[in-house]
Amino acid sequence: MGKEKKMGECRLCRKSGELRDSHVIPDWVYKNEIRDPNGGSVLDLNKMRRSPYAITLPLLCPDCEQKFGRWENQAKRLSTSGKPGDKHGPWLFWFATSISWRNLLWQTTRSPDELSQRTKAILAYDFVAEALECWRTSLLTDQPAPGSSRFRQYLFLVDKEYHLRQSITLGVLNSGEHVFVWSRFSFFGILGLLDAKDQKSLRRSEIKFGDGTLPTANVAPASVLSFLVEIERAELSRVFEYADKKLKPSGDASDDVKGTT
Ligand SMILES: [Zn+2]
Repeated sequence: MGKEKKMGECRLCRKSGELRDSHVIPDWVYKNEIRDPNGGSVLDLNKMRRSPYAITLPLLCPDCEQKFGRWENQAKRLSTSGKPGDKHGPWLFWFATSISWRNLLWQTTRSPDELSQRTKAILAYDFVAEALECWRTSLLTDQPAPGSSRFRQYLFLVDKEYHLRQSITLGVLNSGEHVFVWSRFSFFGILGLLDAKDQKSLRRSEIKFGDGTLPTANVAPASVLSFLVEIERAELSRVFEYADKKLKPSGDASDDVKGTT
């Protein structure tokens, strides 16, 4: 069962060679947060489809993969011991940028028949390619590239005990006022801004380049918040519904528990 090596051009440094099967959302989220493979899953907001599988694609060369891994390890530590108001280092900016980049890149590599009209409409905008290139250059050079002030990263935190941590949501969204790439997993809700009528309205949640502190409240314009709450409320009720079902005695529970032992 030898693993076949995938060759190609690294999407970050653009060198040709062996490619890793890179995770859009870090591997540890699936292992640590989504404990129950039947309960936790990935919600693809594009067509509101759910999948129990980690999303991976041949994206990075081993060197670039390692670079992302360093930020991912810090994010992992924060997800278990971090709380609102805690200090963080510059890695958070890089981690968030890498997540928005990976998520958006994944969306653009999908076959058109996998995409909803809504997603296609967003991906057709020029700013999608511009944001991808801005984030790629920033990640590659360790410096915010020109354009970074346009394509900023924002952070919302998910409470440690919150059931939402059992699931992941990914998508590109248009609230009417803001167009963005949304990645919610574990402790983190990361919003990578693509376009906005009023960027300032999000500034209290911005992840600045450099040292900073984690937000103590999730602050965003009503249009963005109500939009996200609507999506996440549906997700939350699903998680509870599943938990209910699992707790209920049933004559045929075998389907519900497979993979948990
Ligand atoms: Zn590379």
